[in-house]
Amino acid sequence: MKVKRKIIQIDEEKCTGCGQCVVACAEGAIRIVDGKARVISDNLCDGLGACIGECPEDALHIIEREADEFDEKAVEKHLESQHKPEPPATMPCGCPSAQIQTFAAATPCQAANQPTATGAPGAALSHWPIQIRLVPPTAPFLKGADLLVAADCAPAAFPRFHSELLPGRAVMIGCPKFDDRKDYVEKFAQVFRTAGLKSITCLIMEVPCCAGLPVILREAMQASGVTVPMEVITVSARGEIIERRKY
Ligand code: SF4
Ligand code: SF4
Repeated sequence: MKVKRKIIQIDEEKCTGCGQCVVACAEGAIRIVDGKARVISDNLCDGLGACIGECPEDALHIIEREADEFDEKAVEKHLESQHKPEPPATMPCGCPSAQIQTFAAATPCQAANQPTATGAPGAALSHWPIQIRLVPPTAPFLKGADLLVAADCAPAAFPRFHSELLPGRAVMIGCPKFDDRKDYVEKFAQVFRTAGLKSITCLIMEVPCCAGLPVILREAMQASGVTVPMEVITVSARGEIIERRKY
C-alpha cells in the first residue's frame, strides 16, 4: 500500500557509482546499475538514512513522497536471496572495512629505509578494500588497471604472491565455492564495463572448486560484452605453479 513517507532519493547527476552506500545499507535497498546507485524497490528502504553519511558526493537525501510502505519481511527475503552478510560491512563502531584507500608504492630507496611500522618490507598491496564483494566497480584503483583476481586460499599457498604477482596490479580476492556466484558475475561485469582493464591475472588453487573463478570471469566478460586478455595461474597447495594458461 502506498503512503506518504520518508524515503531515500539518489541524485544521479552527482552519483559516481562508488558503491559506498550499497555497503552502508543493511537492508540491501541500493544496487549499482549501469554505474549509478539505484533503489531496488521502495519497500526495502526504511527512510532512516543510514547511507547518507557514507556518500562522498552528497548524492543521497531523504525526501517525503508517496511510496510503498517499508516492509521488514520483504527485506528479510531480499537479504536471504542475496546471501548478503549481516551485519553490514561497515560496522556501527565505524570500522572502515570497506573504505577505499590507496597506498603509494615505495621507491627502491624508501623501501630500503622504511621502518617496519609504516609497512612490512616486501608488502606490495596498493589499495583497500580487496574482497570482491567490497570493491566498488568504479574504484579509482581499477581504472585502466592490470587486475589480479585471486582465490582466497591462493595467497596463503603461493609464497611469491607479494613479490611476483602484486606489484603493479590491483587485486580482488574471493572464494568461488562459498560466495554467491551470480553476485560475482554481476560485480565483474560492472567492473569490465566501467574500468577499462588492461589485463587479468587469475590465481587459483589446483582444487576443483577453484576452477569456477576463471569461468565466472569469462561469464562476466560475456555479460558485459567486454573482453580482457586473461592469464590463469594454477598453484599447488605446496606453492608451486602447476600451470599458466592464456585466454
Ligand atoms: S535510507 Fe536506510 S534503508 Fe534507505 S537506502 Fe539508505 S540505508 Fe538503505
Ligand atoms: S555513495 Fe553516493 S556517489 Fe557513491 S554510489 Fe552511493 S549515491 Fe552514488
